[in-house]
Amino acid sequence: MVPVREDVTIGITCYQNNIVKIIPMKDNKDSTQELRTVMESAGLSPRLREYMEKCAEFHTYPAPGLLIGVFMVDYALEKLSANPGERLYAVVETRKCAPDPLQVITHCTIGNNRLKVLPIGKFALTLNRQSNDPEVRGVRVYVDPRKLKAYPVIYSWFSNEPKEKQAAGKDRLLEDIIRAGRNILSAEEVILGVTEKKAWTSSFCSKCGEMVPSDSLENGLCPGCGSLSYYRKPVPPIL
Ligand SMILES: [Zn+2]
Repeated sequence: MVPVREDVTIGITCYQNNIVKIIPMKDNKDSTQELRTVMESAGLSPRLREYMEKCAEFHTYPAPGLLIGVFMVDYALEKLSANPGERLYAVVETRKCAPDPLQVITHCTIGNNRLKVLPIGKFALTLNRQSNDPEVRGVRVYVDPRKLKAYPVIYSWFSNEPKEKQAAGKDRLLEDIIRAGRNILSAEEVILGVTEKKAWTSSFCSKCGEMVPSDSLENGLCPGCGSLSYYRKPVPPIL
């Protein structure tokens, strides 16, 4: 069978008869092997090696931003004198890559509501402990552009320079990231506001009849039938 479309970045192969096969990618296997080799030759600690492998598996491949994110989370934990088993709270300032090391290592996840993803567009994150006070001390770790200057290959990728310019260092990117480790990061102490847990009640949407928290109703409609509508139903129904 000849694939009609192959997306190597996500490992999906589509065949003529619309069979979609998600296959373990050779590319991914190669890059995971490369990651292992580089981590070993760079003398990365067993702890970081484990984090890297777990995160790469979760993310499906060892993306450059993911690897930097692992160093960021590890650094933030150390600065907060916290261990990954503690009940921690995280904010991440980008949707790209960095949310995943937080989810895998600290177990602050989107689902348990201990990870907030703010689309600020910075490669930065904060970690803090639980608190009953209105404010809490936290640690913010970010990719520091001043430090990045010493790593031209990483800088070129990070600042999204034209592809032809990035191409020259493409083979060295992963290795440079692993070797740079924390050297491209800075950490600072910050004070964060603590959000109070609100009591809530449930209401029915007047259109679809499904339930949502009462305070999310928009003139009697759930956001799915209102401002956040993202699908239409086929006529006649398929299922
Ligand atoms: Zn509805």
